[in-house]
Amino acid sequence: MLAERVNKINESPTMRVATEARRMQAQGINVIDFSIGEPDFPTPYNIKEAAKFGIDDNHTRYTAIAGTVELRKAIAQKLKTDNGLEYDINEIIVTSGAKQSVFNALFATVNEGEEVIIPAPYWVSYPDMVSMAEGNSIFVETNEKNGFRITPEQLEKAISPKTKALILCNPSNPTGSAYSKKELENLAAVCLKHNFYIISDEIYEKLVYDNFEFVSFAALSPEIKKRTILVNGVSKSYSMTGWRIGYTAAPKDVISAMNKIQSHSTSHPSSVSQYAAIEALTGSQSAVSDMRTEYKKRRDYLYDQLISIDGITCYKPEGAFFLFPNVSAFFGRKNEKMKVNNSFDLAMYLLTDGKIAVVPGTGFGAEGYLRISYATSMENIKEASKRFKGTIQHLKP
Ligand code: PMP
Repeated sequence: MLAERVNKINESPTMRVATEARRMQAQGINVIDFSIGEPDFPTPYNIKEAAKFGIDDNHTRYTAIAGTVELRKAIAQKLKTDNGLEYDINEIIVTSGAKQSVFNALFATVNEGEEVIIPAPYWVSYPDMVSMAEGNSIFVETNEKNGFRITPEQLEKAISPKTKALILCNPSNPTGSAYSKKELENLAAVCLKHNFYIISDEIYEKLVYDNFEFVSFAALSPEIKKRTILVNGVSKSYSMTGWRIGYTAAPKDVISAMNKIQSHSTSHPSSVSQYAAIEALTGSQSAVSDMRTEYKKRRDYLYDQLISIDGITCYKPEGAFFLFPNVSAFFGRKNEKMKVNNSFDLAMYLLTDGKIAVVPGTGFGAEGYLRISYATSMENIKEASKRFKGTIQHLKP
């Protein structure tokens, strides 16, 4: 009796390991969770205080569908200061998380049968969102050798008369890889020869290390800005995943279309969360740099641990809070109980024998890899690294 469209939606492959991990935790087993997709820090104090004030000051009623004028002004100012971009507030919409931004952007632009180019490894939700919008995903494979970055040649090859959009996740979930300005310019040159949108998911913008200079795709040129649907939000930068505030900046017609969709589905995001997001964007930014410093320490430690294991190779990512090691050398190996044939088997083995939860690469369109999140304490990372090494080395050819 259910609608046909539901059959097209894949159950999140990241869920199966997570469900087993939760079952083990419920039994009192100490599982270290490396599968987390959100910051482990609390929301900074000033933001929480702003939200409390917002409630007491009665910012508790409907706002404009696109978000309050104050918040959209704060977003416009952020885009100007951080990214050198000029957007009018009617070129900005606030959404219930960056996820809704991507979803509504696809709904607003993609017709049945049109194609959306998605570099792999990709964030799990993109292909399902494209299929819900009745589009077709065209995957372009990248690997650790090219830093998980799509090349202009690969992009050119993937383009067809049906191409409607490219989704670029920069820095990337799941690989942490980010594009330099030059690399983005090379991609932009290909985009400009054709006519399609670039949905630039920049949610991990602030989480970049080693003085990496993040450049927004929209900032490359005025021509590119006209085709870019810029997605960002406060979830990752400000440790605000539960508040559900994301946003899109794009040409006015795209924003108006997204506004129409939002007006008949979820309306605006929570008024109190919007109030808190103004403080996140306009208040002290010191918590952001503190979190960044801590993430960098964890990335460096975990990276060193991983590459010290015989058989593992790993790209050292510029950003986000994930490492994406190549573990394919372990496929075909076994212990007394099981043989590991793929990344799912390896993730299940690490969970049951090593008590660590990681996410198999298959979920991100990249067999051969695991996603390991370092959005957990240094103490956990140290203990989990020991467990990881011990467990994986028990597998024999
Ligand atoms: N894009 C990417 C690449 C993400 O990793 C996430 C969160 N997992 C989102 C968008 C969605 O963020 P939000 O929680 O703001 O909806």
